[in-house]
Amino acid sequence: MSQFDVIIIGAGAAGLMCAAKAKQRGRKVLVLEQAAEVGRKIFISGGGRCNFTNHYTSPENFLSANPRFLVSALTRYNQHDFIALVDKYEIQWHERKFGQLFCLGPAKQIIDMLLAEAKGADIRTAVTLKAVSKKDRDQFSVETDRCSFTSEALVIATGGPSIPKMGSSTFAYQVAQQFGLQVVEPRAGLVPLTFDNKFMARLEGLSGISVNAKVALGKTRFTDALLFTHRGLSGPAILQISSYWSGGDIITVDLLPDINLFDYLKEAKQRQPKKDVVTILGSLLPARLAQRMTSWTESNGRLAETSNKTLQRLADHINRWQVTPDGSEGMRIAEVTVGGVDTNGLSSKTMEASAVPGLYFIGECVDVTGHLGGFNFQWAWASGHACGEVV
Ligand SMILES: Cc1cc2nc3c(=O)[nH]c(=O)nc-3n(C[C@H](O)[C@H](O)[C@H](O)COP(=O)(O)OP(=O)(O)OC[C@H]3O[C@@H](n4cnc5c(N)ncnc54)[C@H](O)[C@@H]3O)c2cc1C
Repeated sequence: MSQFDVIIIGAGAAGLMCAAKAKQRGRKVLVLEQAAEVGRKIFISGGGRCNFTNHYTSPENFLSANPRFLVSALTRYNQHDFIALVDKYEIQWHERKFGQLFCLGPAKQIIDMLLAEAKGADIRTAVTLKAVSKKDRDQFSVETDRCSFTSEALVIATGGPSIPKMGSSTFAYQVAQQFGLQVVEPRAGLVPLTFDNKFMARLEGLSGISVNAKVALGKTRFTDALLFTHRGLSGPAILQISSYWSGGDIITVDLLPDINLFDYLKEAKQRQPKKDVVTILGSLLPARLAQRMTSWTESNGRLAETSNKTLQRLADHINRWQVTPDGSEGMRIAEVTVGGVDTNGLSSKTMEASAVPGLYFIGECVDVTGHLGGFNFQWAWASGHACGEVV
């Protein structure tokens, strides 16, 4: 049985950051990873370029049942700290829209950087965990298929269950429950939304069309690209709102967020009365979408012959289109898991379980979920760092 100061389970973004920080403090660190390689989600993230943080990270970019929880860690290790680390390793990066920072080269550079930072930590891959337990007041025991280990601190950094074919697991929730912690019901986030057959029949032929749209659910709204797919709606705007959506919720979509379409059509009626409504709409939206919307709303005549009431009906369908998804594509392709280990049972400063001294949860397994745009990694770095400073 080998003894360590800290055992970290999961060598993803949060686990590697925690290992680095703890190792740099002189701790004897063991990292146990079930996959053959470390950091597999980092590797594929951001289309292989890793959107590693966001220039404008702030607490408003996160969902949690307890929104104050994330402030401490995010403030103490922020986006500028991570950018400084990336710069120290001379990793080239660039800013895309909305402050999203991506590597110019492969995402693997971020993994190599984390491994270099964690130099000296004992990192073991392809390990199957059998059981974890607390032996006595001060010692945890971790049994694997190969051998057993003990440590003063046990850090769970196994992420969420999204994309199970990548080996994602519910391990963190099982450990939480084993030690009496609550878990906020996990659900798929940053995921395309699906619709029933009746709705999809209306969208037939629109698959592949992308428009800039504003989507809203209650007071939450996002403006970004919306993509029509053969199973429903996707694109960044829909992925963002999906993290807030639950069964039965109606989403309001504005397909022309910068234009009041009713006013625009009334004006066009004065100026170009002989034009067809669909031609005017086709100058603002892709032609196939304009045709579908005018035929749905029976507004495909000439402007002069179309009543204002009909124009209003069309404008409502474009500026205030109400859609009710019947589900999502689920964990199979969700980019993140919303929900997770209840933050009410954790210290916001250290990520330690209040009721179980020495047990920590970091990263995506905790009930903190970022918007699309580099925020999920920033949470992984910040929570991993907060924990690595104390374990
Ligand atoms: C396709 C895709 C693209 C993404 N792109 C971005 C992006 O560009 N920017 C961004 O901010 N976020 C992105 N994300 C989200 C981001 O990858 C995660 O939020 C982040 O990786 C979470 O870090 P983590 O360390 O908590 O978990 P993970 O990085 O998932 O790491 C968990 C680790 O634990 C291991 N593990 C699980 N169970 C066990 C077990 N029982 N025993 C041992 N090890 C175990 C896993 O194999 C994994 O290595 C993306 C996600 C996906 C799926």
